[in-house]
Amino acid sequence: MPSFIFANLDYNIKYMGAEKNSGGMRQAMQDMEKYQTSADTIAAISTPFGTGGIGIVRISGPEAFEIAARVFLSKKPFDQLCSHTVTHGRIVDPADGRMLDEVLLVKMEGPKTFTAEDVVEIDCHGGITLLKNVLQLVLRQGARAAEPGEFTKRAFINGRMDLAQAEAVIDLINAKTDEGTRAAASQLEGRLSQSIRSARKKLIGLIAQMEAVVDYPEHDIEELTGDRIYAGVQEVKGELENIAEGFERGRLIREGISAAIVGKPNAGKSSLLNVLSGSSRAIVTDVPGTTRDIIEEYINVRGIPIRFLDTAGIRSTLDPVESIGVERARKAALEAELVIVVLDAQTGIVPEDLEILKDMRDKKKIALINKIDKSFDDKIIEMKQQLSKEENMPVVIASMLDGTGMEDLLQAIEGLFLKGVIDANNEVLITNARHKQLLENAAQCLEQAANAHLQGFALDLVTIDIKESAEYLGQITGESTSEDVVNEIFSRFCIGK
Ligand code: GDP
Repeated sequence: MPSFIFANLDYNIKYMGAEKNSGGMRQAMQDMEKYQTSADTIAAISTPFGTGGIGIVRISGPEAFEIAARVFLSKKPFDQLCSHTVTHGRIVDPADGRMLDEVLLVKMEGPKTFTAEDVVEIDCHGGITLLKNVLQLVLRQGARAAEPGEFTKRAFINGRMDLAQAEAVIDLINAKTDEGTRAAASQLEGRLSQSIRSARKKLIGLIAQMEAVVDYPEHDIEELTGDRIYAGVQEVKGELENIAEGFERGRLIREGISAAIVGKPNAGKSSLLNVLSGSSRAIVTDVPGTTRDIIEEYINVRGIPIRFLDTAGIRSTLDPVESIGVERARKAALEAELVIVVLDAQTGIVPEDLEILKDMRDKKKIALINKIDKSFDDKIIEMKQQLSKEENMPVVIASMLDGTGMEDLLQAIEGLFLKGVIDANNEVLITNARHKQLLENAAQCLEQAANAHLQGFALDLVTIDIKESAEYLGQITGESTSEDVVNEIFSRFCIGK
């Protein structure tokens, strides 16, 4: 691992500071070259495991071309193939001349590649055994099997993207909705990194000013500088707090919310899940207590993924199997962010329902009066009145027979959770808890710096807090991140990415 990636703050300050810049930059470039020439060549199957039309084996590193040349036969010799073009040919084992597959091969010369190294992609036919054989052949020629996320890690190390952008690659792969994809794509584009870098640059500017005063006190009056620094610190602190505030919205977009559907047996919980998902996944029968296991389904509500859990009917039961289900249902409901209490308009509110409402008293909930097709207006009004005692609980009337009330239910969810989230398109959204923590730490250091100034501490003491804040920000983009953290982040990737 080249040292410049994990350099300490002093180094980074030199690296970013205008006058002191050139030496640091040159050193960093040299380190980078050293890294590139000493790195080994990695290979992996980059498409998902399973049978498909095509499957891709990717090779990256200094020997990518040599290795590919040994196993790929085409009309033109490998070294005469143009970069970033596709060539038809065959993969042949040089040991025995056996042909493994007829393929298309893309030769890509670094640094204009994903990893900034020489890259070869072999588009094979998509059988898993075949892909494994091609990969094995490539490994026998001297490549090493890539670790999870190692291609992206190289893209980061080689300066193709910063850490926040690399993390966005995982988010993009895992995004469950269009909104999630958009937030990740904007982070990959570097919008978060830009805001963080700009804040960090301001802090480094402040540090430079303060150091100038400390080093050459005759040129300035410390008090004046102190006031300017104070204003600068407050400004950056405000910016950081703004970005951190977007976390909850970003988290919702990425992870969505979990909603447990509870209610007495036969109220229509499974039917609700089926209507929401437009399928017949949950078992729907007239026998109370048939949904014994928790069934879950992700449903996209206004671009936010909502994980609906259909729980076993919560009721007292002597059946040991059912009672396990009931307890799990209760636990799942208590852990969920939202609870939808399904009530039966045919039976009205019965003691079992009151019991459930009491059990869920501290949860955010929506009451859904179901089966209105089998009930009368007076009864529904009476139920609504009974439920109005519960504060802040929207009541929706519905029938799963024809889907009545679904729009109202989605609106109620939107009202409880998604206010302001849906229009957040243009905002820089952080979705990552690591980023949030670092932003908060950075803002806290600035708070300390501001307090130190107000209490009349000397400038060099104020500088310590500002330096620490800049260090935290550098950890978001990877400018000052420890090797362990970087390894931890990339280990969450899949192999081949
Ligand atoms: P669960 O035990 O709460 O999951 O209830 P189910 O979804 O299995 O539904 C129990 C029974 O009620 C099934 O026969 C459903 O077809 C029926 N049911 C569910 N919702 C409605 C509704 O809105 N109207 C009518 N008429 N029947 C419903």
